[in-house]
Amino acid sequence: MLTKEEQLWRKQRLEQIKKWEQHCPWEDFIDDEKILHLLEAKKQPDKKEVLAIIEKAKENASTGAMLSPEDVATLANTTDPELWEAIFETAYWIKNKVYGNRIVLFSPLYISSPCVNNCAYCGFRQSNEAVITKTLSMEELEEEIKVLTDMGQKRLIVVYGEHPQSDCKFMCKSIEKIYSIKNGKGEIRRVNVNAAPLFVDEYKEIKNVGIGTYQVFQETYHHPTYKKMHPANTLKGQYKWRQFALHRALEAGIDDVAIGVLFGLYDWRFELLGLLYHALSLEKEFGVGPHTISYPRLEQAVNTPLTVNSPYLVSDEDFKKLVAIIRLMCPYTGSILTAREAPALRDELIKKGGVSQMDAGTRIAVGGYTEMQKKHIPDKQQFMIQDTRSLDEFIYDLCKQGYLPSFCTACYREGRTGDNFMPLAKHATVKNFCIGNGILTFKEYLLDYASPKVKEIGEKQVIPNYLKWLETNIPKAAKQVKLLLQMEEQGKRDQHL
Ligand code: SAM
Ligand code: SF4
Repeated sequence: MLTKEEQLWRKQRLEQIKKWEQHCPWEDFIDDEKILHLLEAKKQPDKKEVLAIIEKAKENASTGAMLSPEDVATLANTTDPELWEAIFETAYWIKNKVYGNRIVLFSPLYISSPCVNNCAYCGFRQSNEAVITKTLSMEELEEEIKVLTDMGQKRLIVVYGEHPQSDCKFMCKSIEKIYSIKNGKGEIRRVNVNAAPLFVDEYKEIKNVGIGTYQVFQETYHHPTYKKMHPANTLKGQYKWRQFALHRALEAGIDDVAIGVLFGLYDWRFELLGLLYHALSLEKEFGVGPHTISYPRLEQAVNTPLTVNSPYLVSDEDFKKLVAIIRLMCPYTGSILTAREAPALRDELIKKGGVSQMDAGTRIAVGGYTEMQKKHIPDKQQFMIQDTRSLDEFIYDLCKQGYLPSFCTACYREGRTGDNFMPLAKHATVKNFCIGNGILTFKEYLLDYASPKVKEIGEKQVIPNYLKWLETNIPKAAKQVKLLLQMEEQGKRDQHL
């Protein structure tokens, strides 16, 4: 039950949201009928047509163009296993072309879980009495950051429920706190945010504390499903308010915004087109597409039957397909695969899906890092995760497969964000920075945090391999990176291009 104060807060905010919706300056960019019609029209794609789309996606990797809705509907309806092999290969090829063979690592940090909403799929929903919710105090937050920085983490995505306890002021205070903490050589250098949609003035406050990306997932773009999942009297029940959350963020001057769908609520093919229309609308209105796309898949949550009963649960086979299509659809956009997925599938999808960012060493209970030895605390979690490898184990597995683990935060701190960043990604030149900075941040990890076996493989194989790549492809950058590596060995930190 909500207290009187919580009810009042929700009522007042709902009124403001409804007022905003009445004067919303943008047109709904999702036409359910049109999308369904398109998917039907492309039901049996011709092999030649699919091959032509694959070629187009490759060309787009150097121009930054996106595929069309017709193209995406065609790929989503493809069934021929041979064509799928070609799509998976292309996803990997595009990822390497744009970003190089590095994987950027981050950590999710749940700061608060009380929530006034009642989303049918979420363990934190207000009516779920089986989950214990909590907001971290500043002291508890500091403890969590100590554990994270002791592991070697540099990038966070902080997560909040929608509640008066975790309003915009609280978000600013907690983010400032995180940036202020120094732990020996450790520190958090980029804080991304996943939280409820805000008003423009609130986004401006968040921008001022120096956030990286603001992430809001539409969950489902299908209007009737959205309505079923999010009760009308809740804040999240307002589709348009959420649909334009990131338009408002860009209007407020936040440079990097991130979109996503919770796969499993409705037909995955429809949702792919929803993501594309969202990206196209951001491009049209602001000239800047999404910085990243996330594709969380529905996972079990305590006392949340929909997470096992939904008629649209996505199989592993279809999940691999949708991740690869996202890579072909928006070549310049970061692609985030989370610890919701099992280790073997994650390892496979780095390649087949062209994934560029992953969380590692993840705990999602509020206060979960302080109790690191407990892999799961189901009654304090929003949902269950499957990949509980430690950061060091995760990095070892990446190294064994030949990838470069990266903790890079350079672009955002060098002002390469928003429309300064997009041309680099769109013309596939961002990897000129990514590889060098990946080497430099991985070296810091090796010097300060790595286990002996990671040190060994890192120093003997990974760093030499990627330095060689730099020497062959960008000799000038190689020279600079070698100098900065020497400085790191002498004790300097945070060296970047
Ligand atoms: N309260 C904020 C909001 O709703 O925007 C924060 C979102 S929540 C803490 C982060 C994301 O987790 C949600 O946007 C949703 O996509 C995802 N999520 C929620 N329940 C889930 C479940 N059962 N399985 C997997 N992901 C889930
Ligand atoms: Fe609240 Fe977000 Fe969970 Fe919905 S998904 S109940 S808004 S925490």
